[in-house]
Amino acid sequence: MLLGPPGSGKGTLATSLSEHLGVAVFVTGDALRAAIDAKSKLGEKVKADVEAGRLVDDETILALAQGFLAAHPEGVLFDGFPRTIRQAAGLRSLVSAEDDLHVIYLDASEETITSRLTSRRVCPGCGEIYNMRFKPPKKDGVCDNCGTTLIRRKDDTEEVIRDRYQVYLRETAPLVDYFARELLRVDGNLSGDKVLERIRGELCPA
Ligand code: AMP
Repeated sequence: MLLGPPGSGKGTLATSLSEHLGVAVFVTGDALRAAIDAKSKLGEKVKADVEAGRLVDDETILALAQGFLAAHPEGVLFDGFPRTIRQAAGLRSLVSAEDDLHVIYLDASEETITSRLTSRRVCPGCGEIYNMRFKPPKKDGVCDNCGTTLIRRKDDTEEVIRDRYQVYLRETAPLVDYFARELLRVDGNLSGDKVLERIRGELCPA
């Protein structure tokens, strides 16, 4: 699983790491946003929380994670789950052997994440993540991969980013101690390529 504040690079890392490890990724935020777009029952239930940057209740999230894990018994890379101690305890109880759980912690400063999130744009078509300052698309406002118009997430405004960071500090940062034994700490202030290089070095040392 990937742990770290919003904007620490979990999404970018999840894409490259899942290819490298050959496992399915479960991005809780994407699953919730897809449900909102589809106007499903789940979407209606979580819309207000997601758009305001508040956490969705633990039962809903645990049911989603459990369902995904059951469908992928060979292994899953979780991005954005768990986010509370209750969710973390739920994940532990779902994993059969203790050494089956690995936690990568992307440690990034508030300055780094605010600067990344305010200039982040995402492709609603294929999920590619851009940054108007560090990784702009080739053609302004359009995805390089699929040509879809890029959007700014509703919760990527400065005010909501500040709230999301406070929620992270209060609810999720305690997971760093909770998972102390399983934790691989990586400097999330580095570029995506550098982060992947470090993790590959740790997971498959030469
Ligand atoms: P993210 O895309 O990971 O930044 O998540 C966007 C939003 O989805 C969060 O601000 C929460 O409202 C909700 N969310 C995502 N993952 C979780 C989780 N594990 N627990 C509760 N809420 C979540």
